[in-house]
Amino acid sequence: MQNSVEISRLEKRFTRRDSNEVHRAIDNVSFSVSSNSFFTLLGPSGCGKTTTLRCLAGLESADSGEISMNGKSVFSADARRDISPEDRPIAMVPQSYGIWPHMKVFDNAAFPLRYGRKRSSRAEQKKRVGAMLEQVGLADYADRWSTQLSGGQQQRLALARALLCEPEVLLLDEPLSNLDAKLRSQLRGELRAFQQKFGVTTIYVTHDQGEALALSDTIVVMNRGRIEQIGSPSEIYDSPVSRFVADFVGSANLVPGVVDERAGGGAVDAKTSIGLLRCERYATPPAPPSAGQELHVCIRPEHVRVISSASEGEGPNRFPAKVKSTEYLGDRQELVVTVGDVVLRAHGDAHLDARPGDDVGVVLDPAWTVALWS
Ligand code: ATP
Repeated sequence: MQNSVEISRLEKRFTRRDSNEVHRAIDNVSFSVSSNSFFTLLGPSGCGKTTTLRCLAGLESADSGEISMNGKSVFSADARRDISPEDRPIAMVPQSYGIWPHMKVFDNAAFPLRYGRKRSSRAEQKKRVGAMLEQVGLADYADRWSTQLSGGQQQRLALARALLCEPEVLLLDEPLSNLDAKLRSQLRGELRAFQQKFGVTTIYVTHDQGEALALSDTIVVMNRGRIEQIGSPSEIYDSPVSRFVADFVGSANLVPGVVDERAGGGAVDAKTSIGLLRCERYATPPAPPSAGQELHVCIRPEHVRVISSASEGEGPNRFPAKVKSTEYLGDRQELVVTVGDVVLRAHGDAHLDARPGDDVGVVLDPAWTVALWS
């Protein structure tokens, strides 16, 4: 598949006003975005997502690195090339939507066709804006003031206006963050449907891991200006490469340990305070794992199975445990159990008869147990 956007070794430094200290907002960031894909920058507040997006848009100039779009260089620190935002094949929807309150819905949407690089005749504007408002469900609102729209409608209007620019790349900065939870989940489905319908390469910024998992073809997890992991939603969730990713995306039990001497054979055996843990998943280690090397074992609660006793069945990663608390959720129970002095979150069958203080067993499914090197 062709790449629409390539970022290579991008770095952006800011100087803090109060202390004059230089701070790397993005540090040696490189990634490629396939054409027509939904690509998400995910990470906590301050990790550099918006700065990366602003560099792509041309609103911020990086201190080093390169950016190309559809095979053409739009930024090169070495060559001192920095194509202006209006000459890049992009449209950006900022967090606040950037809708003009003194204009009607139609005029807001028509703006790029009146003043932008896609200028067109009045008749053409009427036709295209009308068709686009129809597509985003705002045809009946064309003559209303944009201030009369709900949050969700404003978001759709901002999207309509961006798509009317016919961008090669659509940049979306936390577009759902101003909406309530119900609307957010409804619009998240719509966003993905629009992206597929228009086939536009989309780069999306969010700190919400649920949104990232639901919407994306590819996710980049960022932390303190650096990339921690790039992968599909299931790669990120099922095979995190660091404690940071395991903990930030979804919920994770993390148990410290060391590589056991018997490690090998397509799995890593970790000595932990629970006992020996077999990990059939692990990222390519920086160097071949050696006995005694420190690691963390990650296991998601849904892969910790609570059984009536550790002696029930056989196989690795099976331990006696004590129930600390239970929470009935209808389709399942969420339990907190202790194995020795290690506390684990687990999912159990809704009808499992387990109460705080009960002695039970747990199985940490080795196929989903991940060894993390950092
Ligand atoms: P959020 O989710 O809160 O928007 P973010 O991941 O998008 O966060 P950025 O806005 O990219 O993070 O900021 C990255 C870092 O760079 C932060 O530490 C921020 O304080 C700093 N930063 C961003 N813009 C500037 C600026 N204009 N001047 C100084 N520091 C800045």
